[in-house]
Amino acid sequence: MNLKKLLLLIIIFTAVLSAQTKTELTIRSGKTARKITADKHGELIFLSAEKFASAVNAGYYFNDKTGKAEIKFPRFSLTFTGWNQFVVLRKRNGNTWSVYQIPVSAKLRGKDILFPLQYSLKLLSRAAERKIEFNNKKNILTFGKKEKIKTEKESRSNIPEIVNEHSPYDIYGISIEEKTNGTLIRLKSNRFIRNVRSNIIGGKLIIFFPAGITINPKIGKTINSHGLVKKVKVKTVGANSQLEFSLKRGYKSSEAFNDVDSPDLLITIQNENLNSFSDKLNKEKKKWRLDTIIIDAGHGGKDNGTSGLYGTREKKINLAIALKLGKLIEKNLKGVKVVYTRKTDKFIELDKRGQIANENHGDLFISIHCNSTLKKPSPARGFEVYLLRPGKTKEAIRIAEFENSVINMENHPEKYKKLTEENFILVTMKNSANMRYSERFSDILNSTWKSEVGIPSRGVKQAGFIVLIGASMPSVLIETGYLSNRQDAKYLKSRRGQNRIAHAIFDAIRKYKVYYDKMFENIKE
Ligand SMILES: [Zn+2]
Repeated sequence: MNLKKLLLLIIIFTAVLSAQTKTELTIRSGKTARKITADKHGELIFLSAEKFASAVNAGYYFNDKTGKAEIKFPRFSLTFTGWNQFVVLRKRNGNTWSVYQIPVSAKLRGKDILFPLQYSLKLLSRAAERKIEFNNKKNILTFGKKEKIKTEKESRSNIPEIVNEHSPYDIYGISIEEKTNGTLIRLKSNRFIRNVRSNIIGGKLIIFFPAGITINPKIGKTINSHGLVKKVKVKTVGANSQLEFSLKRGYKSSEAFNDVDSPDLLITIQNENLNSFSDKLNKEKKKWRLDTIIIDAGHGGKDNGTSGLYGTREKKINLAIALKLGKLIEKNLKGVKVVYTRKTDKFIELDKRGQIANENHGDLFISIHCNSTLKKPSPARGFEVYLLRPGKTKEAIRIAEFENSVINMENHPEKYKKLTEENFILVTMKNSANMRYSERFSDILNSTWKSEVGIPSRGVKQAGFIVLIGASMPSVLIETGYLSNRQDAKYLKSRRGQNRIAHAIFDAIRKYKVYYDKMFENIKE
């Protein structure tokens, strides 16, 4: 097996590790057959070393202190270590041994080791000097006839052997990382070490290891001052080893624990500033809360917007809804500020509206409008909420063109010329984070609208509204209904209708605020 294939296997097996089930395995040896239960992770079977040894009449020894299980056959023994990928094959008379690496670690469970069966077959076979086969479909492990042990060369091609790289020490390496809230020390370990204690005494962090644990003496020499650590010393007190870290000022507390997916030991040293750091974070979070809403009543002054049935004028209805909405927010959403782009019948240039929003650090920009068809009256009706994106349908483009046509009433309409299609796409791409929030608000508004307002919804749409380009925040444009439609125009003209619409938008803001504040609450925890 070449390295690529091995890596691929590792990836595949790691991917299926999460799905764990129990399975029953038959072990056949000569004329006897014994059944034992094993763990199954995807296709990979983890077998108890103790049960296996007993089933094939091999000797078994578990070392409680080191977490190693030894399966003893007449001439060879095989040793698995908990949370370790290394397997040792030892010749029992004499002192020769080889270390092999299997793609996944054996597991420690109580006083037993669960080894990955498929990866261990060849090694078991060599240790037992018998042919061992596993039938994956029938779940039968057959312990066959005596077999001459293969030459080293042949077996090496199947299992990577790493005798030289394997450190004889239990703790063979160290790495130190500086983090915002302290320093993280990783002690690279060859085996799972339990009962490690740590204590800070007189500016020194001391790690006490249980008896028998060996530490690479070079560890102390390889580390330079880093984070809160000045230097490291390896000490031996009787049968026990210790690691001594001299600390810089500013430490607060420390903790030692075992890594989740390796036998490594992790030690954290928290710095004094941790509390003031989280205070700062809380202040920052407050800044991020949804606390300023920009309400933009479309059109105004010399710009009437669309004119509809029953003498309706868009600019008037937009403003009425905007003011009602603002009042609802001010009254019911504590701590949320409302900023209007206009509070009176005044002409405001399109780019000025975005400017007002940005200068006031708005968190959400809502532009309120009414729709219309050229033919009046006409049956087309309904509410729409628009996101700033290149228009998808002819109808959406037509509506955006109408709302954008206001620029012809402005004194310097040429300033919008650079908003070519290309620039427009760039602008929207840059605001993709804002776009996600705009989408979220639109969805909330759309569903709230459907349950509260007497004008049917045509859904969430997209088009290139200039007014939305200038605002650097989540922003939407609402077409509340068609003034060219009898039912919509009546609804939009009535105080009751306007109240309902304002209330629906307000409810959507309230729901969105919960979602938005929670999103930022989870950041950087
Ligand atoms: Zn309009």
